[in-house]
Amino acid sequence: MSETQTAQLMDGTGLAGRIVEEAAVKAAEISRATGTVPCLATVLVGEDPASATYVRMKQARCAKAGIRSRHVGLPAATTTAELVDTLAGLSADPDVHGILLQHPCGPHIDERAAFEAIAPDKDVDGVTMHSFAAMGFGLPGFVSCTPGGIMRLLDAYGVELAGKHAVVVGRSAILGKPAGMLLLARDATVTYCHSRTADVPGTVRRADVVVAAVGRPRLIRGEDIKPGAVVIDAGYNPGNVGDVDFDTARTRARLITPVPGGVGPMTIAVLLEQTVTAAANQLGVQHI
Ligand code: NAP
Repeated sequence: MSETQTAQLMDGTGLAGRIVEEAAVKAAEISRATGTVPCLATVLVGEDPASATYVRMKQARCAKAGIRSRHVGLPAATTTAELVDTLAGLSADPDVHGILLQHPCGPHIDERAAFEAIAPDKDVDGVTMHSFAAMGFGLPGFVSCTPGGIMRLLDAYGVELAGKHAVVVGRSAILGKPAGMLLLARDATVTYCHSRTADVPGTVRRADVVVAAVGRPRLIRGEDIKPGAVVIDAGYNPGNVGDVDFDTARTRARLITPVPGGVGPMTIAVLLEQTVTAAANQLGVQHI
């Protein structure tokens, strides 16, 4: 590909819309077959406006897809023990099929302890050690939603991964690390970059597939994108700016996700899809 060519955009909004439509059809089938509407419980500690907005967005999408949501809002002073009790209660409640704990929960909460109170069969956000280990072993389970969405995008655009060099910039437990593990499971050769990596640009230059998951505006420059590479930008920074310098990267990449409208919408779509799967599993509905 010449440097003047422009990459094809990977349309996350469109793909997410189709995934949500499919989830809605399946949710309706489950409701018809069992008389029970799939239900996602959302749990929010405190009143952080951004977190509250995320939760409202998720509830609105649920409503559109015929998934019931049950919201549990807890005061900012909630202790880890109280939060664990709440999550254990939802885990034991047969009317709840998926549980989402909006995080970060605040510095006084032991988030790992809270996540582990979520029953694995309701862990539709893929945050428990059980889900993470299942992913590592290649066993069935729920994946962290953003990396799951990235894989769906790569598949929707027919990106060949076997034998390709994938460079994941970022190694957080919910995004970079699982993204690399999912790429590895598909036979990509995976390199992680992080804040201590000696030469991020030089490593990115060797990538057939770049996944940017850092949270630093335009950290990945177009000049470091190998011509013809596939560029997935999971970063979301103030001003709707990604972690990749989009304008220069698109002149070298073959495929690239825009920000917004690329990875972002995929996260909620995968959350809804996994909630429907969880409901089907718990209600014994097969072949939906
Ligand atoms: P995070 O927990 O802050 O992790 C950031 C990662 O980037 C860390 O692994 C860090 O390395 C690495 N890093 C920081 N500076 C770096 C540098 N200069 N060079 C190379 N690596 C560097 O963030 P996150 O939760 O994974 O989120 C990352 C981005 O994705 C954010 O912009 C966030 O808004 C976005 N995001 C989007 C979605 C979505 O689209 N739905 C979902 C989740 C996150 P160390 O490990 O060494 O500290």
